Amino acid sequence: MAKRLNPFDKFQHLKSIPITDEAQLKNIYEDLLNMKITTNEEVIEFQKRRDVIEKHNVNEMAESYFLMTTDVASDEKKNRKDYYEQVIAPIAKEYEEKLNRKFLESSIAQKLDGPFEILRRNQKNDMDLFCKENIEIQKEIDRLSSVLTEMQGKLMANWQGELVTLPDLDPYLESNDREVRKQAYECFEKAKHTIADRTDEIFDQLLNLRNQMAKNAGFKSYTTYRFKEMMRFDWDESHCFEFHAAVKKYILPIKNKLAIRRKETLKYTSLKPYDLSVDIHGREPLMIYQKGDNSSLIEGIGKVIKAIDEELYGYFCKIRDNSLLDLDARENKAPGGYMVMYPVFEQTSIFDNGVGMSSDALVLLHELGHCFHYFLGKNVWPYPLQQWSSEVAEGGSMSMEFIGLEKMSEYLDKEKCERMRAERLERTLGLFVMTAKGDEFQHWLYANPGHTKQMRREKWLELSKEYGREVDYEGYEDNVSISWQFPHILQMPFYLIDYAISELLALSIWDRYKVNPADGILHYKKGCSVAASKTVPEIYELFGTKLNFGESAIAPLAKRLEVELKI
Ligand SMILES: [Zn+2]
Repeated sequence: MAKRLNPFDKFQHLKSIPITDEAQLKNIYEDLLNMKITTNEEVIEFQKRRDVIEKHNVNEMAESYFLMTTDVASDEKKNRKDYYEQVIAPIAKEYEEKLNRKFLESSIAQKLDGPFEILRRNQKNDMDLFCKENIEIQKEIDRLSSVLTEMQGKLMANWQGELVTLPDLDPYLESNDREVRKQAYECFEKAKHTIADRTDEIFDQLLNLRNQMAKNAGFKSYTTYRFKEMMRFDWDESHCFEFHAAVKKYILPIKNKLAIRRKETLKYTSLKPYDLSVDIHGREPLMIYQKGDNSSLIEGIGKVIKAIDEELYGYFCKIRDNSLLDLDARENKAPGGYMVMYPVFEQTSIFDNGVGMSSDALVLLHELGHCFHYFLGKNVWPYPLQQWSSEVAEGGSMSMEFIGLEKMSEYLDKEKCERMRAERLERTLGLFVMTAKGDEFQHWLYANPGHTKQMRREKWLELSKEYGREVDYEGYEDNVSISWQFPHILQMPFYLIDYAISELLALSIWDRYKVNPADGILHYKKGCSVAASKTVPEIYELFGTKLNFGESAIAPLAKRLEVELKI
């Protein structure tokens, strides 16, 4: 196989400090720590110099992560990422705390207003959490997390005698032939089972480390610690419980009705886990390009973005022309789809495991939305205020999925567009159920330290039955009980609920866009362009909506979905 070119080679000259040289990095930090900050100008200069280091830090984290996930079999790439996490990031963490202290103790810095108020709030929050012993723990968490990514990336399935990646099975999992689906499902699960026990072992270690971190920092539970770490200043655990209850009360009944309709239309006596994604009208899975040849996907989505907005199209061209799209599933690639930004290069890249399905177009739109969010907010200063908190992070991306659907006819024919739209709306329903279930599970995980692997699997099975009452899991309990083993639960604690919060934001942008596209885009850009320089409720207001995911938001959403999905 030809060696993949490193897309970052041409940007290396933009680096101005040796971020991966341990000794020099320490010197740079020491100089900054010794800087005099007794005038306004000096404080501003201090912040600007600090931003340069922070940007290099984030850039190296992104670069090493992206390269490693595109080729988990490469020792060189793995070593670079490990070096960043095990050597560079801990140095940065330790100095950041000292720099925060210096900044917060400066009487001049105290008087700066506007975005500096948010900056001080965030720095105080960081200092409340800081604990030197946790630097070592974080190193171990990062190491274990890499082991998981590598295990998942190397996982292959044996499909009818041929070794294939797990995403390669997706079209078969939606096949019209029930027997093919069943075999694909069992093949997929068989592969997952080969790493399930090892994953449980690693997860147990991760749980212990996370709980220890919270304890070290003086918190009674990891949940409280993590909420603070995620800077959830405007809501707390009680809002999550209200959300779970609202989903059960309003969304689940619709999902159940839809499942019954599915079962009746397919004329089955029971719905098995492999019957949930097949098209009930007997159509083949919606494939929109040939696997491995994504040029038509890129060209088609380019047309969609161009029809939406010229400025956004400019950003799209920049990513495409710099070869920062790695979209195809292949051996030795980490699972999932994501984007990262490179603040030194002022670029973003997108990673996916596409196989040619319509959902791959939505993933691309989603990740492009994150990229647009970055480009629109990249002039926010000071730099740390470009780093979104999680409720805001998914706003630009999920909105772009819906806006993109409105212009999808630039790429696909009418029938395909309508099908994609219906499937996306059905996914909205699934998304609320999945996030509520996953979030409830995570609250249980961290409220019950010391639980066994078996208890964890049983809890997930119990929740799966509660949230999927119409599905017949008989004979597949073993498979279902390990299906919690995916990156959000394993490696990104408590991030799932943010998809539900942001979906509500995205639906409101979509409504606005449908009535008046210019107004929709205006609000999209307004919300994106402030990045994280305001409070979350203020940012939601700029997007034209309110931060609310309680019963008063879920009840009308359920009504709306009932109408749109004709249930
Ligand atoms: Zn996202």
